[in-house]
Amino acid sequence: MRRIVAGTFNRGKLREMRAILADLPVELIALDAFPDAPEVIEDGETCDANAIRKAGGLADALGEWVIADDSGLEVDALGGQPGIYSSRSGGPEKNDAANVRKLLAELHGVPAERRTAAFRCACAIAKPGELLCTAEGRLEGTIIFEPRGENGFGYDPVFQPRDEERTVAEMNAEEKNGISHRGRALRAVKPKLIAKLEGA
Ligand code: IMP
Repeated sequence: MRRIVAGTFNRGKLREMRAILADLPVELIALDAFPDAPEVIEDGETCDANAIRKAGGLADALGEWVIADDSGLEVDALGGQPGIYSSRSGGPEKNDAANVRKLLAELHGVPAERRTAAFRCACAIAKPGELLCTAEGRLEGTIIFEPRGENGFGYDPVFQPRDEERTVAEMNAEEKNGISHRGRALRAVKPKLIAKLEGA
């Protein structure tokens, strides 16, 4: 088993990463297990840059293999915002409900056909001194008018994937992971990770 630190304090992300990577010989350790982990400043211009920065910074600081996920929601009517600022957009407390309320307020008066959006996820895996692999995933859909559903996290209750009747928060974990930006990014990174595990 290769132990890999999941570079996130977000329990929802960690749960999804563990489920999607469950068939690999890896053990994902929560970042909470490393109280001295430095805070990596996510000041890159893109999800990809932030994921690489997080994975590399934590791998070097902890002396461990690290997988990082940087994700965000791009809303067309808001010019692609909140984007990489998704987790902070509702205020400094990173509160999912506040983020959702702020998003719905910003979209007040925007009709259904102009509420298109996409979740984006960039994933990067690094070991100390070396970036091992990266991948990205996207999920397109629309922002509905009122939250629906209890599952998932973040903007899931207001995001309805294209060609779906339900929000992501109305899907079970397996259904979400099967179509989500994170599921796509992690499935794309899997063969690259397997090659690195075999070469390690
Ligand atoms: P990050 O922690 O900087 O990657 O920001 C992620 C933020 O984007 C989270 O706080 C959520 O608001 C949002 N987000 C990312 N992935 C998801 C998801 O799978 N569902 C809903 N919201 C998500």
